[in-house]
Amino acid sequence: MANSGPKSGQRIVMKFGGTSMAGTERIRRVANIVRAQAAAGHQVAVVVSAMAGETDRLVNFCREANALYDPAEYDVVVSSGEQVTSGLLALTLQSLGSKARSWLGWQLPVKTIEAHAKARIETIDAPGLIEALEGGEIAVIPGFQGISEDGRITTMGRGGSDTSAVAIAAAVKADRCDIYTDVDGVYTTDPRIVAKARKLKAVTYEEMLELASVGAKVLQTRSVGLAMKSGVRIQVLSSFVGEDSVSADELPGTLIVSDEEMDQLVENGDMERQHVTGIAHDKNEAKIILTRVPDKPGAVAHIFEPLADASINVDMIIQNVGRDKGETDVTFTVPQADLARAQALLEDRISEIGFNRIITDSHIAKISVVGVGMKSHAGVASTMFRALSDRGINIQAISTSEIKVSVLIDEDETELAVRVLHTAYGLDSTEEAA
Ligand code: ADP
Ligand code: ASP
Ligand code: MG
Repeated sequence: MANSGPKSGQRIVMKFGGTSMAGTERIRRVANIVRAQAAAGHQVAVVVSAMAGETDRLVNFCREANALYDPAEYDVVVSSGEQVTSGLLALTLQSLGSKARSWLGWQLPVKTIEAHAKARIETIDAPGLIEALEGGEIAVIPGFQGISEDGRITTMGRGGSDTSAVAIAAAVKADRCDIYTDVDGVYTTDPRIVAKARKLKAVTYEEMLELASVGAKVLQTRSVGLAMKSGVRIQVLSSFVGEDSVSADELPGTLIVSDEEMDQLVENGDMERQHVTGIAHDKNEAKIILTRVPDKPGAVAHIFEPLADASINVDMIIQNVGRDKGETDVTFTVPQADLARAQALLEDRISEIGFNRIITDSHIAKISVVGVGMKSHAGVASTMFRALSDRGINIQAISTSEIKVSVLIDEDETELAVRVLHTAYGLDSTEEAA
């Protein structure tokens, strides 16, 4: 895969998110960005999302039709948003004089495992697509959708078009996968929350993976993992730019890079090494407390096995110091969407697990600081705890990994906590974000 070299004659995958595709006017703007890359001599495959808000609207229809909806039929409904935008973009490109056609998930095909609503891509048969690209045709591909072994439509989880784009880029051995969105790159934190967030020239795969998994939804987590595994070069950039703005070939956005490339950037003075690269928040988790669980071997396994069997991801876990009488409280978090299911599963097993009461709370947020610099630098966690306590923000749970520290706090304090930490780690920009 070429990392540098000629600026023309490359193979590029361009992905446009929902805000970029919201309405015919914006689709025309997208078509012009795509045509500029084709005019620069590149072979271009475009992956598109549904119009902003459309997938939510379709999900609601499913809920209204049948609260306990069949995920296979859910996929039939929610995949339709991308079918519309892929056809509209192909039509718009044609109207501007470009050779273009849409390639639906089942036509390529994008083969996935059968897990409806959270499918994983297994293979993409690229020869037909590559032939079309080599013939100078712009390929427009709906993101988010694939086809299962038994021929049914699948979707890849919310935000899944990012993963579709990276998978297509890997399949066609693209030189670059440009993810166009409504911000002009990856920032030190969500620029919608902190006006002083700073745009990063580059982020390592490892850091981006961690940032995405703790709530920085600018990229779907799985897309970053896939890019890291298959060596796809990602750039995140804005589709809301003027006609005379810098070409994507000049890499105006944020590059997701390997550790080695990052070292090189630091050496060249293009990046400075910070202990903390970014801060993310996630309001989509819920807390569960089981009180008076027997403090003996096997008790915790009894709690978490049924959740694992039901594919419910448990994130932060704390087992409180044992009380008298060999009992302890166990606190953990699950995705809010799985809270009702988790609660029902645990209540069904109250005697088997032996807890006294189950207490749940959705009014929480997880705030995380991420940075590879943490590996070699002590004191990152204590800076976090001090900065939060100085503002009277109470920490309900803590979890850490090699390059991340997360805390659970009251949801109402989310924005304040993110701002305070952004300042505490010296990440504030002197200019306001656009
Ligand atoms: P798209 O529809 O293009 O896929 P998303 O809404 O999924 O766009 O992702 C873009 C959004 O991600 C931005 O509007 C921004 O609010 C949010 N975001 C969260 N964290 C970050 C971050 N660290 N840097 C940039 N954007 C972020
Ligand atoms: N339209 C889908 C969603 O809103 C997929 C995507 O946009 O990435 O989740
Ligand atoms: Mg997205």
